[in-house]
Amino acid sequence: MDAAALLKRLDISSGDLSRGDLSCRSPIDGAEIGHLASATPADVKAAIDKAHAAFLAWRKVPAPRRGELVRLFGEELRQAKDDLGMLVTLEAGKIVQEGLGEVQEMIDICDFAVGLSRQLYGLTIASERPGHRMMETWHPIGVCGVISAFNFPVAVWSWNAALAIVCGDPVVWKPSEKTSLTALACSKLFERAAKKFGGVPDGLLTVIFGGVEVGKAMVENPKVPVVSATGSTRMGKAVAEVVARRLGRSILELGGNNAMIVAPSADQELAVRAILFSAVGTAGQRCTTLRRLIVHESLHDGLVDRLKKAYASVRIGDPREQGTLIGPLIDKAAFDGMQSALDKAKSEGGQVFGGERQLENQFPGGYYVRPSLAAMPRQTDTMRHETFAPILYTLKYREFEEAVALNNDVPQGLASSAFTTDVREAEAFVSAIGSDCGIANVNIGPSGAEIGGAFGGEKETGGGRESGSDAWKAYMRRATNTINYSRELPLAQGIKFEI
Ligand code: NAD
Repeated sequence: MDAAALLKRLDISSGDLSRGDLSCRSPIDGAEIGHLASATPADVKAAIDKAHAAFLAWRKVPAPRRGELVRLFGEELRQAKDDLGMLVTLEAGKIVQEGLGEVQEMIDICDFAVGLSRQLYGLTIASERPGHRMMETWHPIGVCGVISAFNFPVAVWSWNAALAIVCGDPVVWKPSEKTSLTALACSKLFERAAKKFGGVPDGLLTVIFGGVEVGKAMVENPKVPVVSATGSTRMGKAVAEVVARRLGRSILELGGNNAMIVAPSADQELAVRAILFSAVGTAGQRCTTLRRLIVHESLHDGLVDRLKKAYASVRIGDPREQGTLIGPLIDKAAFDGMQSALDKAKSEGGQVFGGERQLENQFPGGYYVRPSLAAMPRQTDTMRHETFAPILYTLKYREFEEAVALNNDVPQGLASSAFTTDVREAEAFVSAIGSDCGIANVNIGPSGAEIGGAFGGEKETGGGRESGSDAWKAYMRRATNTINYSRELPLAQGIKFEI
């Protein structure tokens, strides 16, 4: 693949890539693709000031017209799907199918947001006072700051941006320092759409490149009323504190530690396929990756044997090649983190299979691993921690209630699933006494959500909801309006206040 030609088709010139301190690398082989410039604190301030000025104009544009801009952006994404998908592969290391899937998710959320642009409704509420009407209205809130993680470098940003823009909010985007090029490509595609739309205020979308310091400068700024931050729980705690100190609003999409329960009545063929996709897909680097498998004791050993066979034969390699199912980890730190978690699991009594480095001769600068299974004697501290790599811990259970308790007994609360054909277990799992996660599935794995539902999780996952359902409300301010169309001035609660 000719990277320069690919970038050129996405409007990224060699000039764009030859300035600055921020090295852009591919995890496929560790090679450097180019350099971008990190934003300085003054750049961050200027971008936010400009976005705020854009807000004052954009909030006056009718929402369905704002939707038209998102529709045009969706069209650009359709045209560029193959190229942008390949850039995701190059920069994040995802296999081609998953790179394309990520761009499709962007197209889907644009379609959703276009429809939403005509549905930003509020309620009409019965007033207790005669001749009065109460209603709630939703208005643009201001600049939306978006911080994104490396593992969904474009889709998660688009969940935020498509909604924020139809809601009337400009976007300032701080992408992961590991995936700056995909962000640059998105901004170029947005520019194409903006040009076709005409009259888009300057600063409606700005990308500020760089690391933690750039993110910090953005979240501290009071002109950013909403900060949507996706990444580790450590990052989310830091961001939440800063935003809360100035009483801003944060939407947090943080780490997960996702489990699947396999019950005696489960369709095991389906379960095995779901386990493989959820546990080894994206090389275990999805927030919804399956990390803990809780299997009925009558099935555990047989299921683990089947998984070992599948794990031993799954094709690991260059994610650009057809047939590859597992690409590289993002970097050496991710590889070291995986090895250290496996060592700890062993010291806690775990029986570990797989986890070794692969293809070191072919790609000395790339970190490929055989996905690993670790049969654990109990739920240990190592299992309660999210290690962002393909490690699947397995546990045995006897009673379904015990399995649900294990599912919930971790600090995170993102995704979960149960494989069962027993309707009592299925219903209990999604009920108030079941999974405590933001996503609770039956007979499908925990990963691979659709955009139509609200996405996010509880506890240390941060509580944020993005994408579908009524997640748009987080990007707007709600006003309650009471209109008096009588000639009297009755007070609420019957209070008399006569002069
Ligand atoms: P990370 O926390 O290292 O970085 C995420 C982003 O936060 C980057 O852009 C980084 O520069 C920025 N950042 C870090 N510290 C900051 C601070 N103090 N102030 C402002 N910005 C800061 O995460 P990562 O390694 O890129 O991504 C993997 C993590 O993201 C995993 O924990 C995964 O579960 C999580 N994730 C969650 C979701 C979700 O929707 N819940 C989706 C994708 C990834």
